[in-house]
Amino acid sequence: MLPCIESTPNGEHIAAAERIDPDNAFGRRRGGGFEAAGDPTFFWPNGSTLRVFFLDGEQSLRERVMAAAGAWTEHANLRFRVVDSADAEIRVTFQGAENSSALGVTALDQRDYAPGAPTMILAEVPWATPGRVDRLARHEFGHAIGLVHEHSSPAAGIRWNKPVVYQALAGPPNYWKPEVVDSNVFHRYAAGATQFTSFDPDSVMIYGFPPSWTLDGLTYPENSELSAMDKKFARRIYP
Ligand SMILES: [Zn+2]
Repeated sequence: MLPCIESTPNGEHIAAAERIDPDNAFGRRRGGGFEAAGDPTFFWPNGSTLRVFFLDGEQSLRERVMAAAGAWTEHANLRFRVVDSADAEIRVTFQGAENSSALGVTALDQRDYAPGAPTMILAEVPWATPGRVDRLARHEFGHAIGLVHEHSSPAAGIRWNKPVVYQALAGPPNYWKPEVVDSNVFHRYAAGATQFTSFDPDSVMIYGFPPSWTLDGLTYPENSELSAMDKKFARRIYP
């Protein structure tokens, strides 16, 4: 699995790791491109109803997550329907050490996600602030509908201070090896096969990171709301 980080804007507390599947996301790409950014290979059929099953968690938590995730279906032609059946397309647990999600239809690949096993981990949600819950739910459900990280967009031109980033992510709680940082932070998708908007620092799909992580001191806050471009993009890919 390819981990993806979640960090706070000041970068001092990198709250949890997330992951998307590296083989599905990259290795098995069929020369496709990624779209805000996303790869059509991973999109669900337009108009799909995606069933959501919670493996655990208090009812109130589940409702908070779905209320936040519903920001996507206000714009995308998709529905999330909470069900009691473990054969749901999206299976959520609050137990684990990271925040992560399968990327779009890769959730159906039983080589990576055994039947009934979680496709999304929201480990931080039970103790997160309301704004952070919104952020985590929208970001991970963004992956679940096939969106990738905005900083990986072909349109992103972030000048990373790589030694600093490697060092920051080599420590707790991520403990990432350099190759994980490469694929999760520095990697950018090729423009040819990717659908993408112009780079959108307001996207809920971008990591927040501190100025020390970039050569020019550029920094972005962590976003918890869908940006105007996120909404437009959701409408475009699921019209
Ligand atoms: Zn992510």
